[in-house]
Amino acid sequence: MNIATKKVDVAKEAAALLDKMGVARELYVSGEMPSYSPVTGEQIASLKIVSAAEAAARIERANEAFRAWRLVPAPKRGELVRLLGEELRTFKADLGRLVSLEAGKIPSEGLGEVQEMIDICDFAVGLSRQLYGLTIATERPGHRMMETWHPLGVVGIISAFNFPVAVWSWNAALALVCGNAVVWKPSEKTPLTALASQAILERALARFGDAPEGLSQVLIGDRTVGEVLVDHPKVPLVSATGSTRMGREVGPRLAKRFARAILELGGNNAGIVCASADLDMALRAIAFGAMGTAGQRCTTLRRLFVHESVYDQLVPRLKKAYTSVSVGNPLESTALVGPLVDKAAFDNMQKAIADAKAHGGAVTGGERVELGHEHGYYVKPALVEMPKQEGPVLEETFAPILYVMKYSDFDAALADHNAVAAGLSSSIFTRDMQESERFLAADGSDCGIANVNIGTSGAEIGGAFGGEKETGGGRESGSDAWKAYMRRATNTINYSKALPLAQGVSFDI
Ligand code: NAD
Repeated sequence: MNIATKKVDVAKEAAALLDKMGVARELYVSGEMPSYSPVTGEQIASLKIVSAAEAAARIERANEAFRAWRLVPAPKRGELVRLLGEELRTFKADLGRLVSLEAGKIPSEGLGEVQEMIDICDFAVGLSRQLYGLTIATERPGHRMMETWHPLGVVGIISAFNFPVAVWSWNAALALVCGNAVVWKPSEKTPLTALASQAILERALARFGDAPEGLSQVLIGDRTVGEVLVDHPKVPLVSATGSTRMGREVGPRLAKRFARAILELGGNNAGIVCASADLDMALRAIAFGAMGTAGQRCTTLRRLFVHESVYDQLVPRLKKAYTSVSVGNPLESTALVGPLVDKAAFDNMQKAIADAKAHGGAVTGGERVELGHEHGYYVKPALVEMPKQEGPVLEETFAPILYVMKYSDFDAALADHNAVAAGLSSSIFTRDMQESERFLAADGSDCGIANVNIGTSGAEIGGAFGGEKETGGGRESGSDAWKAYMRRATNTINYSKALPLAQGVSFDI
């Protein structure tokens, strides 16, 4: 069902939202960089790009701010992030709507993204009193050994279009309580939500009162601006979220100057539906995981292995869900699936579908849905039954395509599950304890996220988020991911009157 629409003037509404959140018009009117809404494909703003020299100057300013901020007690730094959480609560509806407008998310997902920002602020506030180091038993009498966690410096954040604001907050909330400054290069496809987030943070900074000027900066521009951040000697950590292609460029550049990297790259996520699975539950989880956000989540479910004994029960029901899912304008309807980000995404999807057909795939859906927007790209999500895992199934295509394969042997399904280059998210649907435990064991799923009886997408902020292999190995958000944003010093203190050397070494002069 395609949902009928009423008319929304996207450019006008974007400007009204930005005004309300306090973004100066000069930042997004008559600049050099056009920005478009995927909802209609129309241009909605033209932004000022920062030059390489200005980007470097802002990094220097952020570094100056860091030098003062690192001396502010961590719980007080937490107070700034608490205020940010309050401001985000105030502007949740506006920022959520702007996310829908600029990234094409349906309303509940736009709001959900802001909720995730609020959640990570709450987490970071608690963390600001828990930046614990260990006390360690020493081998020497009259000595004490401990570790201390210190602020690191300027944290560079590079983010992708599909989580235009949540990814920044995962990094920024943690980085700020850890005593760092942040410099953010948002996706060139979603610069307006970045300006809005920065304006919201500035409200929190104004209420906080005496934070150093320049503590948080936004660099608007394309990848060349990102490269300034990646190469700058005063940026000891870059957290970069985006495609594996981007990570391949950014990773070695950071390694060359021994900077730290948190790489959060592409996924090719899979689920296994076992013979004992609760199929009603699996169906709902698969539908959201594969079609939600129009298949444009790093954790989107892209491959599904279904046991032969339940294949003919599950797959026809899935096909029905694919045929009946509502596709529509997220600003004007209650559709569940919004637009693809742009024409390139649509072309990539069509290419992958053609390739899958050439490999024997049987396709349900995948065609363009006309909503009267020449440059807005809406599609029916595609379910592709594949004879085996090959060709496009091995790659991430950032669009709603779910490849479904039948299996008979659990070990073979698990081997296929792990036989792709990416290693982000995974799930198993089973009521068999041996299968679920095997999936979570050392020789089970090789992903950073492994779930049982829930889908691959929609992670909570409390856990560490990230993946293995070509997903880049980075971890951000919850658990002890904060440690990547600080430097650890091991301190040994001698309170005796002797100087025993470690390992019994003698060196008497
Ligand atoms: P992209 O790689 O095209 O761009 C991401 C960001 O990197 C942008 O800000 C871009 O300007 C910047 N960039 C690109 N090349 C760069 C370079 N050489 N130096 C510095 N900066 C550079 O990705 P996209 O299309 O915006 O997002 C989709 C991709 O991101 C998918 O592959 C998706 O799986 C991935 N993603 C991963 C995660 C995760 O947490 N693992 C989360 C969201 C998205």
